[in-house]
Amino acid sequence: MEKSKKLTKVTVHAGHNKSGRIGAGTSAYLNESTEARKICRKVIRLLRKNKIKAYNCTVNNGKSQLDILQKICRKCNAKNRQLDISIHFNASSLSPADNYTKGTEVLVQNPAGIRGNLGNEICKQISNIGFQNRGVKSNTRLYFLNHTNKPAILIEVCFVDDEDDAKLYKKHRKDVAAAIVKAIINYNQTL
Ligand SMILES: [Zn+2]
Repeated sequence: MEKSKKLTKVTVHAGHNKSGRIGAGTSAYLNESTEARKICRKVIRLLRKNKIKAYNCTVNNGKSQLDILQKICRKCNAKNRQLDISIHFNASSLSPADNYTKGTEVLVQNPAGIRGNLGNEICKQISNIGFQNRGVKSNTRLYFLNHTNKPAILIEVCFVDDEDDAKLYKKHRKDVAAAIVKAIINYNQTL
């Protein structure tokens, strides 16, 4: 096995098309497409401040769900980088305020190595804000996770349709972006 190298170059993108277009994300207390784009931009700004090269591979002109995913993967694969990061928000079914945040999770094709290690650190840092830590989950059916030629992770920040998650998130937007970047810096320090 190749020794893990510090992350110095990554891509980041917001999932889905822009809000209002075909293939946009889910929307309830929060609008997934809009919020994912905000977090994506903040994460990129903070990564660059910390001397990590970050490319924005967000797609706003997809013609279908598949076209969006294909375009995202093409953009990612065209970059010289070590990791691809996708920002999403989760949804289940509308849940009113019940003092229980549904929480944060990271999806990976395979939790071995960097995906699981960094994924766990991201969950930990975001849950420090107050979100439930749902942990790293394996998912072998997601187009994005299967079609980049570097390790890829997909962050589900929190639930757009859980009122408690939405409240906490709106108060801590900046902290969510900072938590993701802190996790990457912490990961680098373990190598
Ligand atoms: Zn999504």
